[in-house]
Amino acid sequence: MLTADVKGKIARDLAERLNGTTLNLTYELEEIGLPELEGDADFCYALDNEVERCVVCDWWCETSEMEPDDSDQPVCEDCRG
Ligand SMILES: [Zn+2]
Repeated sequence: MLTADVKGKIARDLAERLNGTTLNLTYELEEIGLPELEGDADFCYALDNEVERCVVCDWWCETSEMEPDDSDQPVCEDCRG
């Protein structure tokens, strides 16, 4: 059983790996042996604070660079034009 702190650390490490790539989150979690984290609220919250996946181009970017579209989905700076 992982604590919220540990999940936060895993999320930050994974965010570094995902940032600037189109890597698949499910696959990456399976690689580190923690596939159950994909549906974990603490983990998802921590990851969303670091990186988000652009719904237009599928690239992971820093959350601070994202803006929500009309449906409140994250869109990266490049795709906003
Ligand atoms: Zn984009």
